[in-house]
Amino acid sequence: MPNWAQGLSFWMLLDFYLIFILVLLILRFVLHNKRMFSMFIFYLFLLAILWLSSTLELPISKDIYMMAPWVFLFFMIIIGAPDIRLTLESLWKETAKSSAVMMGSDRTKNEIIKAVTLLSKNKIGGLITIEKFNTLDQYSERAIMLNADVSHELLINIFTPNTPLHDGAVIVRGDKILCAGAYYVLTSNENFEKTTGSRHRAALGISEITDSLTVIVSEETGSISIAINGVMTKMKDENALNEYLSLFMK
Ligand code: ATP
Ligand code: MG
Repeated sequence: MPNWAQGLSFWMLLDFYLIFILVLLILRFVLHNKRMFSMFIFYLFLLAILWLSSTLELPISKDIYMMAPWVFLFFMIIIGAPDIRLTLESLWKETAKSSAVMMGSDRTKNEIIKAVTLLSKNKIGGLITIEKFNTLDQYSERAIMLNADVSHELLINIFTPNTPLHDGAVIVRGDKILCAGAYYVLTSNENFEKTTGSRHRAALGISEITDSLTVIVSEETGSISIAINGVMTKMKDENALNEYLSLFMK
């Protein structure tokens, strides 16, 4: 055994490995989010000043800076709570995959397109999420369960204004409308225009943390968009929507 390896024991390696995983998780968390990243850089800056004042042995500033990182860490956790939640959910996304995926039939796809087109023509707001591998159970559990066959009549009925189910999102699983009135965590994407409303932000939010596809119909403009993998795209016509859905529901 070489010299350097003599002091190594199984427990030391395990120790290193645990620290390694911890550092990886923290890095991933920090890099995931711009706001967290700038706070983290500021935190490192504070630590550097602390180190400097302790090497120069400046007594007063040293006392202050000894406190600062802890206070700042505390604030970082409070301010970062929503980011911590989003990151944990997106880490969870990779583990919460079901092995068998059940995509809807062509008929289901066509019913969704028909409903969305009619909603758009009548400027009725709508939000329809199609589930893929990642389960949306945690959202449907808090919504109104339907378990009904997908039909354009039912979808339009759900989104008709001033009815009990029209707010929030419909979740489609396979050929069934699982639920209506589902609420998502809004995206914290800062590149979005400030005037973008909560329907579009919710759609982008769910697309960032799951592999689902969401169709959004705007109440204000009647425009149709889809959100998938954290990207929102406006559909220029029915054919474009058909293409996206066909690819997704394969
Ligand atoms: P539109 O273009 O249709 O006006 P918008 O993006 O401007 O859409 P808002 O005008 O804020 O959004 O739309 C409000 C509607 O969005 C609510 O009535 C509700 O149905 C839906 N909504 C709001 N928040 C959420 C959420 N967190 N999850 C799901 N749906 C939501
Ligand atoms: Mg609006």
